[in-house]
Amino acid sequence: MKADFCRRILAWIIDALFPLRCPFCGDVIDRNAECCEVCFAKLPFADLKDSCTRCGKRECVCGSVPLITMTRPVFYYEELASHAVLRMKFAHRPGTAIALGRFMADAVQKEGGSWDMIVPVPMTKRKVRRRGYNQSELLGRSVAERLNIPLNTALRKTRETKAQHTLDEQERAKNLLGAYQADPALVQGKRVLLCDDVLTTGATLKEGAKALLQAGASEVGAVVLCCVERNRV
Ligand SMILES: [Zn+2]
Ligand SMILES: [Zn+2]
Repeated sequence: MKADFCRRILAWIIDALFPLRCPFCGDVIDRNAECCEVCFAKLPFADLKDSCTRCGKRECVCGSVPLITMTRPVFYYEELASHAVLRMKFAHRPGTAIALGRFMADAVQKEGGSWDMIVPVPMTKRKVRRRGYNQSELLGRSVAERLNIPLNTALRKTRETKAQHTLDEQERAKNLLGAYQADPALVQGKRVLLCDDVLTTGATLKEGAKALLQAGASEVGAVVLCCVERNRV
């Protein structure tokens, strides 16, 4: 009884000191919520009925040998969602990832399928040092917690690459060739769900999946927070 009371007081103090905020507008929200009601009504949820289920894009980018069995984007990379991504990445607001990851977890749950581990798309150590965190890993941590699936950093980025947003489609694919390596001891025979923040041409997920399958993963799927669809509406 007393322990329960202490736990409640502690939770109350943590809530007061570190409230969870809406990842889109910054208002304080309930600790278990994903965002505030006002933002929820305006969110650009991805409509996937015309998208390829494997790569998550309207214009399929799977190529001749599809590596990924399912890609589930949550939002289009448009207002509110894109602002939240930028805030998470560049405005030193890593806490935003907790709430955003919950949207991703819910999307995976709706999709069904079973996964042995969540693997975030990695950054090089140097880049993590510079930013202070890898946003895909923070998102992955939140997804893993919500779905009760272990998070595993089994994928490594082995070399620095140019920033993908500065390149065109072909350069993007070339830029990442062989840039990832997976640990066979961790992924052999496992169904891996890759986790990333933004899906643009699919080059990152494809290279990540290639490394995981080469290391023996039995299946690779992906969940991404946002998908860039240029010619929408
Ligand atoms: Zn809000
Ligand atoms: Zn496709």
